[in-house]
Order: sequence, then structure tokens, then C-alpha cells
Amino acid sequence: MNRKMQNSHLAPHRQTPMAIAEMLDASGAAQTRLFDEAREVRDTYFGRSAVVRGVIEITDVCVKSCLYCPMRVENRYKRYSQNAGDVLEAAESVYQAGVGVVALQGGETPASTRLSLRLIPKIREVFAGNVEVLLCLGNKDRVELKELKQAGADSYILKQETSDPELHLEMCGEDLDTRVACAKDLIDLGFRTGVGAIVGLPGQSRASLVRDAILPGELGAQMMSASPFIPAANSPLAGSPMGDLNLTLNLMAVMRLLNPRALIPAVSALEKPQSGGQALGFKAGANVITINFTPERDRSKYAIYGADRFVVRREHALATLEKAGIEPLFGREAFAFWHRPANLNVGA
Ligand code: SAM
Ligand code: SF4
Repeated sequence: MNRKMQNSHLAPHRQTPMAIAEMLDASGAAQTRLFDEAREVRDTYFGRSAVVRGVIEITDVCVKSCLYCPMRVENRYKRYSQNAGDVLEAAESVYQAGVGVVALQGGETPASTRLSLRLIPKIREVFAGNVEVLLCLGNKDRVELKELKQAGADSYILKQETSDPELHLEMCGEDLDTRVACAKDLIDLGFRTGVGAIVGLPGQSRASLVRDAILPGELGAQMMSASPFIPAANSPLAGSPMGDLNLTLNLMAVMRLLNPRALIPAVSALEKPQSGGQALGFKAGANVITINFTPERDRSKYAIYGADRFVVRREHALATLEKAGIEPLFGREAFAFWHRPANLNVGA
């Protein structure tokens, strides 16, 4: 039995590309059924709860030129990189807020490896070891990843962005194979690994979105996401249409059905096409929300999605979860579930 058959909630005939494409196009009553099933699977395998993470955006320096991102290297503006003291102060506020997962996010730059190597052990100290350290810092080579793991990093998010090789090259200026090889290294080195897709990139095909749904399970990723494409000012795609919210939610629901135990976030970008978009993410089977702990002075400098991005604050996250009838998992609870026996909640 292959990995797909073993882990998926779906019968084999519902895992075909044609069946997945049909689910991606669901609307009206068919979409309601899709979401109901995705929620039922989440609740059965995971419980009616969501992991709460805290993100600190450590630098906007980036060597890459993704067409959708204002932090691309071509954009000349004053960049920021937090020093270790600033990041530790922010980590302290994550701890004080009772949040047990600290995510360090930033542009792709070799400097973030050095900074993270210094920071990770200190962050672990702040939490007396009761923390999951999650990184989202772009591609690194295997040696760097190994060092980061040894320093105490637990997990890493490296989205494939699009699994269409030609579109990936056009959008990210690099081979899809390079990105996927890095994700495979992460999994191989024992990181809990997240991948994910941007939905609505110009030129994206339905067939490639079907592939985006299947890829996380094939790789053995434990975390996966779908985000709508946000046309950001100061990027070459500023004039392109925004990604479709329903298509994004449908992809999240399909990911849930294919990967019952996965962590699937309701990302902040869901709030851009529609206020309340993150609550809809939980309706489609999400089980993670991330609160922003970047120091106030740097939040507006981190140009992801442009200056008018939606920044998730604690009150918004808790209100969203309450609206969706989901219990927040703070502290140790937020990462202890990784160690639950696999069948603990089945049939609950
Ligand atoms: N530099 C690292 C990387 O790209 O993996 C991590 C930071 S990057 C800002 C985090 C994510 O932002 C990317 O994986 C990409 O999916 C997302 N992103 C950036 N610009 C976006 C846009 N305009 N619309 C949707 N997602 C976007
Ligand atoms: Fe850099 Fe990440 Fe933006 Fe691409 S998406 S330009 S890698 S910060």
C-alpha cells in the first residue's frame, strides 16, 4: 500500500486527478458537503481545536526575486534585520502570551542561518524547553539544515508555491526540483515539514493545483497550506487579479481529506479577499492560526502582501476561533499532539 492510500481519508476512486479537480471546483451544496466532510475528518483525527503559533519576522533581506513578493532583491529600499536581543524580547512576549510554538520567518538570506543558530538555543531557554521552534527562512543547503536541527529547530515550512515546473521557474526564478529537494532534505533530517501552494498565480492551471493537493502526502509532509495569491504593490504582479477565496478553501479541504492528521493553517492572507476569511478556513478543515509577534516598529517594514497586509493580533485570532467553535491549543498542548498515538482520536 503506498503512502497516499495509507494516510488518506478518501477511497482510492476519490483520489484520482479527475475526482480531485471536481472537488476543487465545488460550489453551492457540493462545497458545503466538501467542507462538512473536511471538518468531520479534522475533528475525528485531531479534535475540535487549533494550534496557536506566534510568528516573529526576523528580516526582510532576501536574495530571491519571486514575482509576487515585494521583498524581492530588485526592490531597493532600506531593509531591516533584527538583532538577537530584539528577537529574544519578541520570543519572551510569545512565552508571556502562553503560546508554545515560535515561528521565525524571513527573506531567504544566508545571514538568517547564522542568526537562527545563535537564537534557537536561547529561545528554548526562554521556554525552559517547552517549545516548538518552527523556521520559515527559504532554501538552505543540507549542511545548514543539519546545523539548525542540531541547534534545536523542530520544524520548517518551505512551500513549493506551485508544483507546475514552468510556472515555478517563472515565478520564483529557480527550479521546482531545487525547492522540492530542499523539502525532502528537511523531511530526511527529521524536521516536521510544511509545504504549500499559492492559489491564483497568473497562468496557474487546474492540473497543477491537483498536483499541489497530492504533493504534500507524497512527500510525507506533516504540515501544508493553501493561500490566495495577493497582488502586492511594488511587485511585478501588482496588477494581476487576487486569488479566488473559494478555490483556496476547496484546496484546503481536499488537503484535509487527503491528510487527516496534518496541520493546515487558516493563513492571514485569507482575510484579504474577504473579511472573516480565516474563520472560513476553519470551516474548510484548518487547525492552526498564527499570531504576529514581530515588534510593532518592524511590522510595517515586512512587506509581504504589501503595506496594507492583514496582521493577526491575539484578539482577532481568539475571536476567529470562537466564531468557528474551535478551542485554541496553547503552550505545550500546541506541540504535544505530535507525540499522540496515531489512532488516539479515531472514532471519538
Ligand atoms: N522567504 C521565505 C520563502 O519564500 O519561503 C519565507 C518568507 S516568505 C515571505 C513566506 C511566504 O509568503 C512564501 O512562501 C509565499 O508563499 C508567501 N507570499 C509572498 N508573497 C505572496 C503573495 N503576494 N501572495 C501570496 N503569498 C505570498
Ligand atoms: Fe524572498 Fe520569500 Fe519573498 Fe520569495 S517569497 S522574494 S524568497 S521573501
